[in-house]
Amino acid sequence: MVTELLRSGHVAAECRCVVPGCSRRAEVSEGSGLARYHCRYHVQHKSRHGSHWHPTYKASELQPYARSAELWIREHREDPAYQAAYWQLEHLMAGASRVESATSLRGLSAEHRTRIAFARLRAANIPTRRLIAIYLGVAALVEDDFGSHRTREFRIVQAAKAVHRLASGTHRKWDVWEPRTGGTRQAELHAYPRSSGHVLRKIGAALEKACDELARTAVPEIIAMRTERFGPHPSHSPIAKAS
Ligand SMILES: [Zn+2]
Repeated sequence: MVTELLRSGHVAAECRCVVPGCSRRAEVSEGSGLARYHCRYHVQHKSRHGSHWHPTYKASELQPYARSAELWIREHREDPAYQAAYWQLEHLMAGASRVESATSLRGLSAEHRTRIAFARLRAANIPTRRLIAIYLGVAALVEDDFGSHRTREFRIVQAAKAVHRLASGTHRKWDVWEPRTGGTRQAELHAYPRSSGHVLRKIGAALEKACDELARTAVPEIIAMRTERFGPHPSHSPIAKAS
């Protein structure tokens, strides 16, 4: 009976992952999960990267956009939309400073983990301006790359991952408020653990909330600056289009 259904082709096609080139069975038909149209591998890929199929951008791919965004910001520091983004993120980072040393993240809510992630950015002395430049850079890259996955989810996860990379490998000490004594104690950061997919989305959503309005005016100008300084994105060349 089952083999007959599979032979009919229609049902078999429904059972396969829809990512081009993937022949694995979808999670539901395999009994390994809830995804009806994607295999387990590509479901996990989406959780980590924000897209079923597009890999995470390399730092070198993002760099010309993030640098152009930094230059754009230099000219637009007084703009109300920039000021609004800046103070929203400043507020978030300041509110995140009173978190316990995150030696054990187990059992903490995603909100709490997100606060810890922002606290670590503060502890690593990442300037708020840099967070904005990265969000704008990622938004411009996703927009400018013809081969990108232009979805909100991919954009916010990629922004969160790029921000996360900023603080990785830092080894710092900072003071943490101790509620029981009212004093402070020192927390140390020796590693920057990988964030779960859920926390990445929370971080990305917070960046988006702060920077979305700014991005509307900034992104087209950042793309133009990037093109002027570094040339067009490789996906614009006729060879890339043909392949
Ligand atoms: Zn697949």
